[in-house]
Amino acid sequence: MIIILTSNATERNREDIVENLKARGFGIHLSQGVEKTIIGVIGALDEQKLEVAEQFEALPFVERCVPISQPYKLVGKSFKPEGTKINVRGVVIGGEQTVMMAGPCTVETEAQLMESALAVKKAGAHILRGGAYKPSTSPYSFHGHGVEALKMLAQARQETGMPVITEVMDARDLEVVCEYADILQIGTRNAQNYTLLREVGRCRTPVLLKRGMSSRIEEWLQAAEYIASNGNYDIMLCERGIRTFETYTRNTFDINAFPALKELSHLPVIADPSHGTGKASLVPAVTRAAFAAGADGAIVEVHPHPEKALKDGSQSLTPAAFEQLMQELRQIVPAVGRTL
Ligand code: PEP
Ligand code: MN
Repeated sequence: MIIILTSNATERNREDIVENLKARGFGIHLSQGVEKTIIGVIGALDEQKLEVAEQFEALPFVERCVPISQPYKLVGKSFKPEGTKINVRGVVIGGEQTVMMAGPCTVETEAQLMESALAVKKAGAHILRGGAYKPSTSPYSFHGHGVEALKMLAQARQETGMPVITEVMDARDLEVVCEYADILQIGTRNAQNYTLLREVGRCRTPVLLKRGMSSRIEEWLQAAEYIASNGNYDIMLCERGIRTFETYTRNTFDINAFPALKELSHLPVIADPSHGTGKASLVPAVTRAAFAAGADGAIVEVHPHPEKALKDGSQSLTPAAFEQLMQELRQIVPAVGRTL
């Protein structure tokens, strides 16, 4: 359940409530809004909730106690109705401005990464993507350059000023990835790896949580709840397409997810039209659709020479195609009341 304090509740009032709840053995999560403080209470049984609600609603600085019936509480809309804004080295995700993350699927060489980084930056991207640890269906294919690639990303950040996002696949790599990355990406294959989700929940680097390729929206939100309940609230949800009977495209991009998640959660929602389609020719239209449907940002694969890419070349935009897409978005995004 959540306890909503009145706007004139003092810090002392809040502390008293928190102490009281902790003494009863409940877990506490605070959401400090501009106007109101909301206290998330974890671990209370139904009968305890009733008792707590009755006692606390009698206090003058408690506005209301709301039982939450969904299996996710901290990432649910009511815990932070004003929405979550995540500040990544000055780039704010979840605000009025939408955010573009772009770069190669995989960090291949210093030259390839720098060429991609400079091109996406010139076209107006805010954040640089690049995989250092790559999940692969085949054990025999390329799995990324690991720490060497992380160092190249840090170098590209230094030279372009763009924060970097990269995937962490294994809790054993978390420390080193956090050393270099500004945003941790959890890939679709790890979207329900609860051990990893718990671990990223214990660190303070923002997380982009991709949707599991067969996850329902409710399962996806519960995966996010694993991260939040361990203390990391800076989470973005990323729709990257789901498995359906359709094989023409690599995945089926679920446009429903955008308005649905905006109803259900306060977390920013990001579109990944590259994995959502698997085809470069389809990426621009699907990106435009995602922004029109309420996406707070997109993550798009761009490679200076897609035909030579070690991974995901067929879905990677050339720098010229990416620049064209950014121009198109400068029409769409303001039309839905946001900026780019
Ligand atoms: C990626 O972003 O390159 C990637 C592997 O994504 P996903 O986990 O969505 O397949
Ligand atoms: Mn990829």
